[in-house]
Amino acid sequence: MSTQRTPYVGGNWKMNTNCSDSRALIDAIGGVLDSEKGNLGVEVAVFPPFPYLRCVGGRIDAMDAPVVLGAQDCWQAGNGAFTGEVSTEMLVDCGVSAVLTGHSERRHVIGESDALVNAKTLRGLEAGLTVVLCIGELIEQREAEETDAVNERQIRAGLAGVGEDQLSKVVLAYEPVWAIGTGKTATPEDAQNAHGAIRGLIGEMYSPQAAAEIRIIYGGSMKPSNAGELMAMADIDGGLIGGASLKADDFYGIIEAAKGSLV
Ligand code: PEP
Repeated sequence: MSTQRTPYVGGNWKMNTNCSDSRALIDAIGGVLDSEKGNLGVEVAVFPPFPYLRCVGGRIDAMDAPVVLGAQDCWQAGNGAFTGEVSTEMLVDCGVSAVLTGHSERRHVIGESDALVNAKTLRGLEAGLTVVLCIGELIEQREAEETDAVNERQIRAGLAGVGEDQLSKVVLAYEPVWAIGTGKTATPEDAQNAHGAIRGLIGEMYSPQAAAEIRIIYGGSMKPSNAGELMAMADIDGGLIGGASLKADDFYGIIEAAKGSLV
């Protein structure tokens, strides 16, 4: 990756852990990162389930660990009559500073549309959160050679109404859906091709400077053994990690690979 961009590594815990597991996991992650305070050189975030945000955030504060607290989703409107949903006001109140939008499980399992992902992205940015906007193709779209077209559609829709001055708070996560939670990973070359096309698109939509500065991270069965070769690619600026973020040592191994990509 380019040394001008700070690598970003996020741990998406999905609907896993319980109260004591989430505390143990953040304590272990904070413990291994403790010695790196001030010179980590990598932005690290964890995205626990909603019920454990307070608990995990409290541990992060108590340890003064170089990790930020993120949420896996948000509602696109302010507090009100939306039973079961969680507003960005509530997230901020819980100490959250980042949010995922458009994760493939929300797009393809829960049925979120491009328009809804866009509304959530705008809402997250208005609330001052870093928004990790996830995009990526299904296996049949890959086989039909539609990867770049799908990414373009999801990015144009997801970023509609987002100004260039807001892009420093956006991280794009390219996550081929067939690679998420399957143990299958894109080859570094295939991932680089997709990331290169995404960066080119940001250049077209905004400016060459915006393209040079935006972080584009890869997600899909990343683990310590493949993180180094992926992050060595010019346009891969970190990772969004599911399964491997549930083990502190594996997550740390990926953070180490991100650090290694800087030298
Ligand atoms: C994810 O959930 O964003 C993800 C990439 O999961 P996994 O690492 O398990 O493939």
